[in-house]
Amino acid sequence: EHIANQIAAGEVVERPSSVVKELVENAVDAGARKIDVQVEEGGLQLIRVTDNGSGIEAEDCEKAFYRHATSKLLSGRDLFQIRSLGFRGEALPSIAAVAKVQLVTSSNDSGLGRVIVIEGGSLKQNEETAAPQGTDITIKELFYNTPARLKYMKTIQTELGHISDVMYRQALAHPEIAITLRHNGNTLLQTQGNGDLLQVIASIYGINASRAMVPIAADNLDYKINGFVGRPDLTRSNRSGMSTIVNGRYIRNQGLYQAILRAYHTLLPINRYPLVVLQLEMHPSLVDVNVHPSKLEVRFSKEAELNAFVEESIRRLLQGQVL
Ligand code: ADP
Ligand code: MG
Repeated sequence: EHIANQIAAGEVVERPSSVVKELVENAVDAGARKIDVQVEEGGLQLIRVTDNGSGIEAEDCEKAFYRHATSKLLSGRDLFQIRSLGFRGEALPSIAAVAKVQLVTSSNDSGLGRVIVIEGGSLKQNEETAAPQGTDITIKELFYNTPARLKYMKTIQTELGHISDVMYRQALAHPEIAITLRHNGNTLLQTQGNGDLLQVIASIYGINASRAMVPIAADNLDYKINGFVGRPDLTRSNRSGMSTIVNGRYIRNQGLYQAILRAYHTLLPINRYPLVVLQLEMHPSLVDVNVHPSKLEVRFSKEAELNAFVEESIRRLLQGQVL
């Protein structure tokens, strides 16, 4: 019985880091306060994500692997009001089509839950098991049944680099969640989950963040900006040092990057980029996340106003600094 297909999987599951991204987003959506990610061999051998979120009810476990069986979209209108990270119901079926998946989950504190095993889209097991509340999902032998895709994978270091990026983004977007990443037993990232964004920045970039980063806080009728901007004299970075988070979702947006760069324009030498972490809050109707399946690119309905506000807020802050 095939409950998922490989062709559609290609869109969602490009490489190990896409699996990590989808599984961690599910844990975030489930309200987890703690998310542990364990990977082996760049994620090609094993990806395991353990969370202490809501878990999945016994009768919904199998359904979670059916295409478009999301629990997160309540009505068509919600597409414009999306706050949860997932909403297409494509991740689990896509992953299960191209790997060996074990899901252990419980939606209560009875000590009992469900174990589901699916290999290459075929259900192998669905029964009761001992389980704490939360979800523990293990992905083994990714792309074992799609050799063409497997051949396309780069080195373990490259795949691990993409996984680290995914985890850094989630950690920056969610300082209130304790997040760990381990690769072949080595801890690569560990955040406290105490809400302290500065601590997260320090652990990712290995800098003295309280000295190098300046807190930013600004708001107008439509937008609220929080976060930290790097002092141009104490931080140096590449393009990826600009992190933008919108309503708890790490996003990429060229307009925002350009606005940040304009604010730093006279302060940084050419080909130098600032270290910036901006958390933006706005009404969900002002942002369209339904642009690309990866949900990384977004579109803003009042783009020019937003960019001007971001640029002005950062510029004012930097000008006020005694550098
Ligand atoms: P989507 O996130 O778009 O809804 P997914 O395929 O990622 O679709 O997940 C399918 C469903 O499985 C989710 O809607 C959710 O109900 C459930 N689910 C998946 N992962 C978890 C998790 N870690 N905790 C709780 N529920 C989960
Ligand atoms: Mg999802």
